[in-house]
Amino acid sequence: MENPLEFLRNIKSVAVATVDKGKPAVRMSDVMLAENDKLYFLTARGKPYYKQLKENPEIAIVGMDKNYVTVRVKGKIEFVDKSYVEKIFETNPVLDEVYPEDTKEILEVFCLSEGVGEVFDLSVVPPKRERFAFGGATVEEPGYRITEKCTACGICEELCPTGAISEGDIYKIDRAICLECGRCYEHCPSDAIEQATGF
Ligand code: SF4
Ligand code: SF4
Repeated sequence: MENPLEFLRNIKSVAVATVDKGKPAVRMSDVMLAENDKLYFLTARGKPYYKQLKENPEIAIVGMDKNYVTVRVKGKIEFVDKSYVEKIFETNPVLDEVYPEDTKEILEVFCLSEGVGEVFDLSVVPPKRERFAFGGATVEEPGYRITEKCTACGICEELCPTGAISEGDIYKIDRAICLECGRCYEHCPSDAIEQATGF
Protein backbone atom coordinates (compact mmCIF):
# COMPACT_ATOMS: atom_id res chain seq x y z
CA MET A 1 0.00 0.00 0.00
CA GLU A 2 0.93 3.67 -0.06
CA ASN A 3 2.83 5.09 2.89
CA PRO A 4 0.52 4.39 5.87
CA LEU A 5 0.90 7.93 7.20
CA GLU A 6 -0.13 9.31 3.80
CA PHE A 7 -3.03 6.85 3.90
CA LEU A 8 -4.25 8.48 7.14
CA ARG A 9 -3.87 11.93 5.66
CA ASN A 10 -5.97 10.86 2.66
CA ILE A 11 -8.68 9.49 4.94
CA LYS A 12 -8.28 12.79 6.79
CA SER A 13 -10.82 12.38 9.60
CA VAL A 14 -9.47 9.78 12.00
CA ALA A 15 -10.23 8.78 15.57
CA VAL A 16 -7.59 10.12 17.96
CA ALA A 17 -7.39 8.72 21.49
CA THR A 18 -5.74 10.46 24.42
CA VAL A 19 -5.54 9.86 28.14
CA ASP A 20 -7.69 12.04 30.40
CA LYS A 21 -6.62 11.73 34.03
CA GLY A 22 -5.93 8.04 33.55
CA LYS A 23 -9.07 7.34 31.54
CA PRO A 24 -9.42 6.99 27.77
CA ALA A 25 -10.80 9.86 25.68
CA VAL A 26 -11.40 9.84 21.94
CA ARG A 27 -12.62 12.20 19.22
CA MET A 28 -12.53 12.55 15.46
CA SER A 29 -9.73 14.81 14.35
CA ASP A 30 -8.42 15.76 10.92
CA VAL A 31 -4.91 14.85 9.81
CA MET A 32 -3.99 18.29 8.54
CA LEU A 33 -0.66 17.42 7.01
CA ALA A 34 1.63 14.42 6.47
CA GLU A 35 5.21 15.48 5.93
CA ASN A 36 8.61 13.89 6.53
CA ASP A 37 7.12 10.89 8.34
CA LYS A 38 5.10 13.11 10.67
CA LEU A 39 1.37 13.68 11.02
CA TYR A 40 0.14 17.15 11.96
CA PHE A 41 -3.04 18.06 13.82
CA LEU A 42 -4.64 21.29 14.90
CA THR A 43 -6.36 22.06 18.17
CA ALA A 44 -7.23 25.07 20.32
CA ARG A 45 -5.75 25.83 23.72
CA GLY A 46 -9.18 25.81 25.40
CA LYS A 47 -10.05 22.27 24.39
CA PRO A 48 -9.78 19.27 26.74
CA TYR A 49 -7.90 17.65 23.82
CA TYR A 50 -5.11 20.24 24.22
CA LYS A 51 -4.98 19.90 27.99
CA GLN A 52 -4.84 16.11 27.80
CA LEU A 53 -1.94 16.29 25.35
CA LYS A 54 -0.06 18.72 27.55
CA GLU A 55 -0.37 16.32 30.48
CA ASN A 56 0.35 13.17 28.50
CA PRO A 57 1.86 13.78 25.04
CA GLU A 58 0.90 10.46 23.51
CA ILE A 59 -1.91 9.50 21.17
CA ALA A 60 -3.36 6.49 19.37
CA ILE A 61 -5.00 6.92 15.97
CA VAL A 62 -7.16 4.74 13.80
CA GLY A 63 -8.57 5.32 10.34
CA MET A 64 -10.34 3.02 7.87
CA ASP A 65 -11.05 3.50 4.18
CA LYS A 66 -14.07 2.30 2.20
CA ASN A 67 -12.31 -1.00 1.40
CA TYR A 68 -11.96 -1.88 5.09
CA VAL A 69 -8.26 -1.26 5.17
CA THR A 70 -7.39 0.04 8.64
CA VAL A 71 -4.27 1.84 9.77
CA ARG A 72 -3.57 2.23 13.47
CA VAL A 73 -0.74 4.25 14.94
CA LYS A 74 0.37 5.09 18.45
CA GLY A 75 3.22 7.28 19.58
CA LYS A 76 4.57 10.51 20.98
CA ILE A 77 3.49 13.98 19.96
CA GLU A 78 5.17 17.34 20.18
CA PHE A 79 3.78 20.82 19.80
CA VAL A 80 5.40 22.70 16.92
CA ASP A 81 6.14 26.23 15.84
CA LYS A 82 3.16 28.59 15.34
CA SER A 83 4.21 29.03 11.71
CA TYR A 84 2.58 25.67 11.09
CA VAL A 85 -0.84 27.24 11.69
CA GLU A 86 -0.49 29.18 8.42
CA LYS A 87 0.85 26.17 6.60
CA ILE A 88 -2.09 24.09 7.73
CA PHE A 89 -4.60 26.75 6.69
CA GLU A 90 -2.99 26.80 3.24
CA THR A 91 -3.36 23.05 2.82
CA ASN A 92 -6.83 22.88 4.43
CA PRO A 93 -8.80 25.90 3.10
CA VAL A 94 -11.99 24.75 4.83
CA LEU A 95 -10.47 25.97 8.10
CA ASP A 96 -11.00 29.58 7.00
CA GLU A 97 -14.72 29.04 7.53
CA VAL A 98 -14.22 27.72 11.06
CA TYR A 99 -11.51 30.03 12.38
CA PRO A 100 -11.55 33.57 10.93
CA GLU A 101 -8.17 35.30 10.66
CA ASP A 102 -8.40 37.19 13.96
CA THR A 103 -9.16 34.00 15.94
CA LYS A 104 -6.18 31.95 14.79
CA GLU A 105 -4.09 32.99 17.78
CA ILE A 106 -5.93 30.41 19.93
CA LEU A 107 -4.78 27.54 17.71
CA GLU A 108 -1.90 25.16 18.34
CA VAL A 109 -0.36 22.55 16.06
CA PHE A 110 1.10 19.29 17.21
CA CYS A 111 2.69 16.48 15.31
CA LEU A 112 2.99 12.77 15.85
CA SER A 113 6.70 12.41 15.29
CA GLU A 114 7.60 8.97 16.55
CA GLY A 115 5.59 5.81 16.79
CA VAL A 116 4.59 2.38 15.65
CA GLY A 117 1.68 1.32 13.53
CA GLU A 118 -0.18 -1.47 11.87
CA VAL A 119 -1.93 -1.89 8.54
CA PHE A 120 -4.81 -4.36 8.79
CA ASP A 121 -6.30 -5.20 5.41
CA LEU A 122 -9.79 -6.66 5.65
CA SER A 123 -10.36 -6.37 1.92
CA VAL A 124 -8.68 -9.76 1.42
CA VAL A 125 -9.27 -13.23 2.85
CA PRO A 126 -7.54 -14.04 5.09
CA PRO A 127 -7.00 -10.46 6.32
CA LYS A 128 -3.39 -9.30 6.21
CA ARG A 129 -1.53 -7.27 8.77
CA GLU A 130 1.79 -5.50 8.64
CA ARG A 131 3.53 -3.47 11.29
CA PHE A 132 5.67 -0.40 10.70
CA ALA A 133 7.56 2.22 12.68
CA PHE A 134 8.65 5.80 12.08
CA GLY A 135 10.67 8.56 13.71
CA GLY A 136 13.23 6.16 15.15
CA ALA A 137 10.81 3.76 16.87
CA THR A 138 11.28 0.01 16.53
CA VAL A 139 8.77 -2.19 14.72
CA GLU A 140 6.83 -4.51 17.01
CA GLU A 141 6.24 -7.80 15.19
CA PRO A 142 2.55 -8.78 15.00
CA GLY A 143 0.83 -12.02 15.86
CA TYR A 144 1.68 -15.06 17.92
CA ARG A 145 4.94 -17.01 17.73
CA ILE A 146 5.73 -20.68 18.25
CA THR A 147 8.78 -21.42 20.35
CA GLU A 148 11.25 -24.28 20.75
CA LYS A 149 8.89 -25.95 23.22
CA CYS A 150 6.73 -27.10 20.28
CA THR A 151 6.34 -30.90 20.10
CA ALA A 152 4.77 -30.79 16.62
CA CYS A 153 1.48 -32.29 17.83
CA GLY A 154 -0.47 -30.38 15.16
CA ILE A 155 -3.36 -29.28 17.40
CA CYS A 156 -2.86 -25.58 16.69
CA GLU A 157 -2.89 -26.04 12.93
CA GLU A 158 -6.35 -27.60 13.08
CA LEU A 159 -7.70 -24.83 15.29
CA CYS A 160 -6.44 -21.81 13.36
CA PRO A 161 -9.27 -19.96 11.52
CA THR A 162 -7.00 -18.47 8.84
CA GLY A 163 -4.67 -21.35 8.02
CA ALA A 164 -1.78 -19.29 9.34
CA ILE A 165 -0.04 -22.26 10.96
CA SER A 166 2.09 -24.69 8.98
CA GLU A 167 3.77 -27.89 10.06
CA GLY A 168 7.44 -28.55 10.59
CA ASP A 169 9.79 -29.86 13.27
CA ILE A 170 8.58 -26.77 15.04
CA TYR A 171 5.26 -25.47 13.75
CA LYS A 172 5.28 -21.99 12.31
CA ILE A 173 2.83 -19.07 12.24
CA ASP A 174 2.56 -16.75 9.25
CA ARG A 175 2.21 -13.60 11.30
CA ALA A 176 1.03 -11.57 8.33
CA ILE A 177 -2.27 -13.47 8.32
CA CYS A 178 -2.57 -14.20 12.04
CA LEU A 179 -5.81 -12.72 13.43
CA GLU A 180 -4.34 -12.66 16.93
CA CYS A 181 -7.42 -14.55 18.11
CA GLY A 182 -5.31 -16.57 20.56
CA ARG A 183 -6.98 -19.92 19.87
CA CYS A 184 -3.67 -21.68 19.25
CA TYR A 185 -2.23 -20.08 22.37
CA GLU A 186 -5.08 -21.25 24.60
CA HIS A 187 -5.07 -24.83 23.34
CA CYS A 188 -1.38 -25.64 22.94
CA PRO A 189 -0.68 -28.52 25.38
CA SER A 190 3.01 -27.63 25.60
CA ASP A 191 2.72 -23.95 26.37
CA ALA A 192 4.83 -23.39 23.27
CA ILE A 193 3.14 -20.30 21.89
CA GLU A 194 4.10 -16.77 22.82
CA GLN A 195 1.47 -14.08 22.96
CA ALA A 196 1.44 -11.23 20.50
CA THR A 197 2.62 -7.73 21.24
CA GLY A 198 -0.76 -6.06 21.31
CA PHE A 199 -1.91 -2.77 19.92
S1 SF4 B 1 -0.21 -27.02 19.60
FE1 SF4 B 1 1.71 -26.34 20.51
S2 SF4 B 1 3.01 -28.15 20.55
FE2 SF4 B 1 1.32 -28.60 19.16
S3 SF4 B 1 2.12 -28.04 17.13
FE3 SF4 B 1 1.07 -26.26 17.94
S4 SF4 B 1 2.66 -25.08 18.98
FE4 SF4 B 1 3.47 -27.13 18.65
S1 SF4 C 1 -3.74 -16.52 17.06
FE1 SF4 C 1 -5.50 -17.31 15.95
S2 SF4 C 1 -5.14 -16.66 13.82
FE2 SF4 C 1 -3.20 -16.44 14.89
S3 SF4 C 1 -2.12 -18.33 14.50
FE3 SF4 C 1 -3.20 -18.59 16.45
S4 SF4 C 1 -5.16 -19.52 15.93
FE4 SF4 C 1 -4.27 -18.71 14.02
